[in-house]
Amino acid sequence: MASKRDYYEVLGVSKSANEDEIKKAYRQLALKYHPDRNKGNQEAEDKFKEATEAYEVLRDSKKRSQYDKFGHEGVGGFEGFGRGASADFSDIFGDFDLGDIFEGFFGGGGGFGGRPGSSQRARRGADIQYDLSLTLEEAAIGHEVQIEIPRHEHCATCSGSGSAPGSKTTTCPVCNGTGQVRQTQGFFSVTQTCYKCRGEGKIIGNPCKTCNGSGLKVQKRKITVKVPPGVESGSRLKITGEGEQSSGGGTRGDLYVLLHVRKHELFERHGNDLLLDVSISIPLACLGGEILVDTIYGKKIKLKVPSGTQSGQIFRLKGQGLPYLGSYGKGDQHVRVNIDIPKKLSARQKELLKEFAKLNGETFDQARPFYK
Ligand SMILES: [Zn+2]
Ligand SMILES: [Zn+2]
Repeated sequence: MASKRDYYEVLGVSKSANEDEIKKAYRQLALKYHPDRNKGNQEAEDKFKEATEAYEVLRDSKKRSQYDKFGHEGVGGFEGFGRGASADFSDIFGDFDLGDIFEGFFGGGGGFGGRPGSSQRARRGADIQYDLSLTLEEAAIGHEVQIEIPRHEHCATCSGSGSAPGSKTTTCPVCNGTGQVRQTQGFFSVTQTCYKCRGEGKIIGNPCKTCNGSGLKVQKRKITVKVPPGVESGSRLKITGEGEQSSGGGTRGDLYVLLHVRKHELFERHGNDLLLDVSISIPLACLGGEILVDTIYGKKIKLKVPSGTQSGQIFRLKGQGLPYLGSYGKGDQHVRVNIDIPKKLSARQKELLKEFAKLNGETFDQARPFYK
């Protein structure tokens, strides 16, 4: 096995770097080498893992001082990236694009926090994901909606302590309240969730009957979600601090609203542009004129159809597409013209068409189709 590089060297910071400098350095490296941005690139993946491992140690003052004293041996208990270990990473990737990247790496779906009380590291409440379906119109103009989610709140009976009123809660004697125990065998050291208190760090004398000692109770909560104009399917909104309550007195998790924009029966979406098919008659295509076309904003707009318009020709209505998310301007609406060929004709219409064919230099034979 190749020898490990110095963690400070990996992050490119000095030994005296403060928390912010370490965080910044890691953030830059993580963005550069993230596997989602470097598909199939083993070197980038290794760099990413190396940087993440370094950060995992240097961000933690305890581990960092161990490392400073004993080098890599001092932090042999490094556990890699289980769900628990990722619990606190979300804080450095605050905005939601970066959150997306990170979620993929850490296994996604269930959020960063883990289940309340599952381990000492997951003190922060779990994240919640909510799926919200929108019409294309709502995606175009923006949308405000009240959703109702069931989530854990502090139990009212015990005020979230988990112990029945009047009973005492004591610090766990096995882990001294840390929720974790470390076992060392030779070179190996394994940190595990405390078996006695299951990571809670405390022992409840007489559990509260309402919440069975968890301190939490599922309740339905109404939350207003503001969807900005221009979103698309797969966009996620992060509503900070509206996730699950933490059982250990930590901060709440976050609420992620995953958006699904439904297909429209008239408009086809291509990024921020829209495509609308319209039918026009043969005379209109030949002679030209004006038609009224639908827009996603509800208002009909006049479109000039020039004489000699061909079937399948596309016209552009500038700025009638969807807004650019978080930016200025809008896409365009494209109108594709299809020429409507009538299936039934009156005797008079047939007569006029034959007349037209004749003027066009075509010979018409009753027994056969047109030919020249
Ligand atoms: Zn309770
Ligand atoms: Zn314990």
